[in-house]
Amino acid sequence: MSEHRAYVEIDLTAVEENIRTIASNTDAQILAVVKADAYGHGLVEVARTALASGATWLGTALLEEALQLRAFGLSGSILAWLTPPGDDFDEALREKIDISISSLAILEEILAAGERTGITPRVHIEVDTGMTRGGFLEEWDPFLLRLQEVKDSLHIVGFWTHFARADEPDSDFTDQQLILFNVLLNSLQSQGIYPEIIHAANSAGAIAHPGSHKQMIRLGIAMYGLSPDVGHMGGSEKLGLRPAMSIKAKLVNVKSVPALSRVGYGGMGVTDMDTKLGIVCMGYSDGLPRRADATAGVSYKGELARLIGRVSMDQCVVDLGPDSTALAGEYVTVIGEDGFSADDWASAAGTINYEITTRIASRLPRIYHR
Ligand SMILES: *Cc1c(COP(=O)(O)O)cnc(C)c1O
Repeated sequence: MSEHRAYVEIDLTAVEENIRTIASNTDAQILAVVKADAYGHGLVEVARTALASGATWLGTALLEEALQLRAFGLSGSILAWLTPPGDDFDEALREKIDISISSLAILEEILAAGERTGITPRVHIEVDTGMTRGGFLEEWDPFLLRLQEVKDSLHIVGFWTHFARADEPDSDFTDQQLILFNVLLNSLQSQGIYPEIIHAANSAGAIAHPGSHKQMIRLGIAMYGLSPDVGHMGGSEKLGLRPAMSIKAKLVNVKSVPALSRVGYGGMGVTDMDTKLGIVCMGYSDGLPRRADATAGVSYKGELARLIGRVSMDQCVVDLGPDSTALAGEYVTVIGEDGFSADDWASAAGTINYEITTRIASRLPRIYHR
């Protein structure tokens, strides 16, 4: 693969091990969350690996993502939960995609699609228990009334909510959400509606709130080997997870410069001694955060070389140190076990690991190995 100027390596064995680690601590089914190109790791490869490793469901945000899985021959249960009015629900039904219902408007569109296609829609009802984002809130009572009229036209598979603060060990907010979740479930059941799969937990819930697992957990970031919240829960190692993504990029050039050289746009970086700089063939258009500071960088044969100056569009500059033996054309590790982690890049840029991996551009090839 030496012809690529930069590439992403995905260790599918790590994905498998992470799923097995989480699975060993729960009786719930696992829905593998593969939205956003599997958090930048590659939709189809991760989906196949997840199903071969014990996950029984796939979850996407968008209907397009679910349809793409079908197009690649994945035939099992798939839930898509972010389907705005106007989506192609006919196609969703023909392709046996489970759809989330989070508003009266979407309910009506799904019912209409069911009538047009003659296929009973498989749906999961989403309730808003404190995230104040998706799910029924003020429409809940009118929804229950409407459901009485139309429930025979639907297969109500699931009932679910999403946690806002499951990563905060000192907060009782998750317990409060679960209490409201149960109240809402009871009000549904008192109408004679009994969804088979109750689900609430994301990775943080799966790890920190065993009481939230219900029939299924929706596993995202932990499957990729990253912590839902490094500050509150500790990093990958503490959680027994192994990051699946690493990134390599080529040095375009290595140059010797004197102390006090100003580097990059705005001259924001300054060398503190005579040193060698490495020009790395990866920049913000590839997904490296422009705001990253010198607490991140690359590694060359295990030696850390920190960013110096601003990240440019297609390249960045690192301080290799005066004694470096690195040569133009050689690879450095941008993210990887022997260098900086996605967590390091996140902290250097004031963001979270989720944003680092999902933004790695599709123009970098993904190379899979086990
Ligand atoms: C993204 C997402 C998840 C997965 O969250 P992680 O924190 O990555 O585990 C679960 N459920 C829903 C609804 C999501 O949007």
